[in-house]
Amino acid sequence: MTTIFGKIITGELPAEKVFENERILAIKDLHPKAPVHLLIMPKKEIPNLQSVEEVDLPLIGEIITVAQSLASEYDIADGYRLIVNNGATAGQSVSHLHFHLIGGKNLGGMA
Ligand code: 5GP
Repeated sequence: MTTIFGKIITGELPAEKVFENERILAIKDLHPKAPVHLLIMPKKEIPNLQSVEEVDLPLIGEIITVAQSLASEYDIADGYRLIVNNGATAGQSVSHLHFHLIGGKNLGGMA
């Protein structure tokens, strides 16, 4: 099923892109929870973290590399969170795997 993020990836819906290559897209979150709140996602339609298969692991590794680069670019490399909400009970609202890169303020402890 195509999601909002699927439509952003194909260009059917707009987004503020901060990184893109053939496999990965990173955008600014529409409702940021911190001064820096980016969403990094594979272009491949993977619904959630639990669906990731062994074949996808290089892609997940590349997403982490992209997160590191963006953290440096946005000057938050010394303190950030990289979060995946897996499933509705964990707060996942869009069924297309995405990593939240959050920082730019004191994030405190985990709730
Ligand atoms: P989730 O709750 O699934 O972990 O995260 C979904 C995130 O996507 C939320 O932080 C929400 O603010 C963001 N979001 C929802 N719709 C859009 C949209 O159309 N554009 C962008 N850039 N972000 C969105």
